[in-house]
Amino acid sequence: MTWETVIGLEIHVQPATRSKMFCGCPTSYGDAPNTNVCPVCLGLPGALPVPNAEAVRLGTVGALALGCHIRERSVFARKNYFYPDLPKGYQISQFDKPLAEHGSVMIESPERGPIEISITRLHLEEDAGKSLHDRIPGQTAVDLNRAGTPLAEIVSGPDMRSPGEARAYLTTVRQLLIYAGVSECSMEKGSLRVDANLSVRRPGDPLGTKTEVKNMNSFANVERALEAERVRQIAMLERGEAVTQVTLTFNAATGEVKPLRTKEDSHDYRYFPDPDLPPLVLTPAWIEAQRAALPELPAARKARYQEALGLSEYDARTLIQEPAVSAYFEATVAAGVDPKTASNWVLGEAMSGWNDHGHFAIAPERLAALVLLVADGTVSLQAAKRIFAELAGNDDAPRAVADRLGLVQVRDTGALEGWVAEVIAAHPGEVARYKGGDAKLIGFFVGQVMKRSQGKADPKGIQPILTAKLAE
Ligand SMILES: [Zn+2]
Repeated sequence: MTWETVIGLEIHVQPATRSKMFCGCPTSYGDAPNTNVCPVCLGLPGALPVPNAEAVRLGTVGALALGCHIRERSVFARKNYFYPDLPKGYQISQFDKPLAEHGSVMIESPERGPIEISITRLHLEEDAGKSLHDRIPGQTAVDLNRAGTPLAEIVSGPDMRSPGEARAYLTTVRQLLIYAGVSECSMEKGSLRVDANLSVRRPGDPLGTKTEVKNMNSFANVERALEAERVRQIAMLERGEAVTQVTLTFNAATGEVKPLRTKEDSHDYRYFPDPDLPPLVLTPAWIEAQRAALPELPAARKARYQEALGLSEYDARTLIQEPAVSAYFEATVAAGVDPKTASNWVLGEAMSGWNDHGHFAIAPERLAALVLLVADGTVSLQAAKRIFAELAGNDDAPRAVADRLGLVQVRDTGALEGWVAEVIAAHPGEVARYKGGDAKLIGFFVGQVMKRSQGKADPKGIQPILTAKLAE
């Protein structure tokens, strides 16, 4: 009998604000420990929190992009627990009245095709600090630069049925939030983190006991970790053992999931409304203004690429995958390149640089200038690809590089006639066969002229001259 896997994800995203959730300290990344702190985020007595309006706006925009209903009145609550990197002894979060609820996103399941994943809620909260175990030998150091950093926690329903679906959901949510301008969503920089809940059951049975998997530092590792946990739970159940509710961490090096010491799983957080913060009240007009200002989201953009720009489904889907790639494509088109040609270049030459280095080798305006040289016949497509390779690492104009490399096509009739005459003189046998009716030989002559011109002759200009000379 088969097992069914049930997965739900909690994604923590850091809204792209300059300052923290409840104080004016900067959210900058990589500063010296404990330099971006103040009485509020240090939790000193008497310090009062003030919500960051931009964090509230970005949280709202993100929730709207995820199809959520925005609550006009939400409440900040204290989540009480003890941890060395939590100076106040509680985290300000939202509990029974979160900012947003009841959303959904469409994802492309590798097994089931397009499916809808429900978003249970999106709430705002603050991050804790960081315990550093490698800084001082034998001791734990605490860095509170991150304490108070805004976070939007996005909780999905238990709607995913495979690790591949979890990855597809993550990819879709990340895409939406980047397009909506909510967050940079970088796992490396800590602006996106994922915790996963997984259980298995016989199809049709009630939900099995779930475990929580943490410490997954890439989307690929989320998929690997969930696969490992699914295998672990199924093996336990098949041995007749019961799955117990534990928190596990993923070790990317070994590919294994290991239970953590039992943490705050069974904790009672004693949530209560934060007496220092009044309810967060948003007017319907303000919420509607945020909805109206939403930028074009990935699904709409893909449809536009197919319908208005005439791209194939594959090209449209590939271009929108990475927001930076889509932006690069848009800039290339804006600089005057026909969309289909721009798509070919962006997904071809430009994309290989992106894949290798994570950024594009040349600005879209320079790519456009190069592509336009092909369009107006100044250089051949072949030559353009050579020029492209030369453009990285300098600021030269594509035309200047074409001149330097001698790749500008020669359309001067005198020069073309000269090469044609040389080719005809050098191949009397082929000329005789051509004159005897072997019309296909024209291709041979064009090739010879190109060779003689070292690729510089404009092929479109050669043929009429050849035909005329061969008819003499
Ligand atoms: Zn502060």
